[in-house]
Amino acid sequence: MLALAGHKFVILEFLYALRKFVLAKRKFLGNREIMGDFISKGTSMSWEKDYVRSPPWDIHAPQPEIVKLAENNEIKGARVLDIGCGLGDNAIFLAKKGFLVTGIDIAQLAIEKGKKRAAKQGVTVDFRVGDVFRLDDYFEEESFDTVLDSGLFHSLDDEEKLPFAKQVWKVLVNGGKYFLLCFSDTEQGSEKPKGINKEEIRRTFSKMFRVDYLRDAFVAAKIRDGGAGGYIASMTKIVSAHS
Ligand code: SAH
Repeated sequence: MLALAGHKFVILEFLYALRKFVLAKRKFLGNREIMGDFISKGTSMSWEKDYVRSPPWDIHAPQPEIVKLAENNEIKGARVLDIGCGLGDNAIFLAKKGFLVTGIDIAQLAIEKGKKRAAKQGVTVDFRVGDVFRLDDYFEEESFDTVLDSGLFHSLDDEEKLPFAKQVWKVLVNGGKYFLLCFSDTEQGSEKPKGINKEEIRRTFSKMFRVDYLRDAFVAAKIRDGGAGGYIASMTKIVSAHS
């Protein structure tokens, strides 16, 4: 009798564990749809693992908003720095258009894969592994005419935003452009990126940049509806206020 009760207990334990597993898996897959489990704090290790498989932002093409920037001739000057370039599709697209493009990312694996994509397409991009908070270690001041940020700013913690803006400011020429593409705060995810509101963008950058425009935009990704709402901003480095 006792042995039978013990058996029952083991079976119940097993069923309980199985249920727990199924629920956890369902939660994981649900989160994945909103990209939550792919986005973590900006340490190199956490980003690195995102590139073991293809992350949701890997659309194997440049972001439509970046294509528009090029078509509208908004990208002035020759030297472009793509910060948080990931797998490099935006950088590769701009290099094809004739720009001298440097792509930098903290994830080594992303850079390795980006290099392969560029080589396959016969395009030269200066890909580098590096931390955006150390741009001034890697590049002379005023090394670039344009800085492109597709999906990096919205992954930063609040206290990182101003130091980030200063780094961008330093490597740009006077009058150089910073283009920012990010998810907007209307996108509700439980995890990062939570999305940015317009006020936050203005607050972060307005002392160092003139905000030329800040508009609604579509950010393409391998999620429901093929992407989500965001913002695109064009900013120009101003000199007087910051030193
Ligand atoms: N720009 C790409 C990737 C966006 S995902 C695209 O549009 O598809 C954000 C990227 O920023 C990731 O590749 C991540 O590795 C990179 N990143 C995050 N923190 C960083 C940091 N401190 N320095 C450099 N790159 C960083």
